[in-house]
Amino acid sequence: MAPFLAYLRIMRGCNKYCSYCVVPYVRGPEQSRPVEHIVEEARRLAGNGVKEITLLGQTVNSYRFAHGLRTYGLADVLERLHDIDGLERLRFVTSYRVISMKASSARWPICPRCASTCTSPPSREATVSSRP
Ligand code: SF4
Repeated sequence: MAPFLAYLRIMRGCNKYCSYCVVPYVRGPEQSRPVEHIVEEARRLAGNGVKEITLLGQTVNSYRFAHGLRTYGLADVLERLHDIDGLERLRFVTSYRVISMKASSARWPICPRCASTCTSPPSREATVSSRP
């Protein structure tokens, strides 16, 4: 039976250097995958029967990918994945709470398929994205 859940890495590394954490030293600086690669992989997963995808990143809401004159953020990735046939839910972990979810895009609250998992108590802004 094909899995209905999948994890999809959209970035790796971290630039935050929290005092107690080794991640930036062992994984290096933040590097985001091209949007098109993410969409292509998500389409492939959906074509294989996956219904729910969790987007992964050390600080996933730091996702930034520059292409031409445009810089894409996490909200842009979610928007691109939203219309893929067969996908019913999108999740993302781990959110870095200091980064305003609202600031990442004015389009943020429109996606009914999105859910996030925060590792720390959500800020006022972050609650916007914490839909069940
Ligand atoms: S944001 Fe997370 S991964 Fe990055 S340094 Fe802080 S605790 Fe480590």
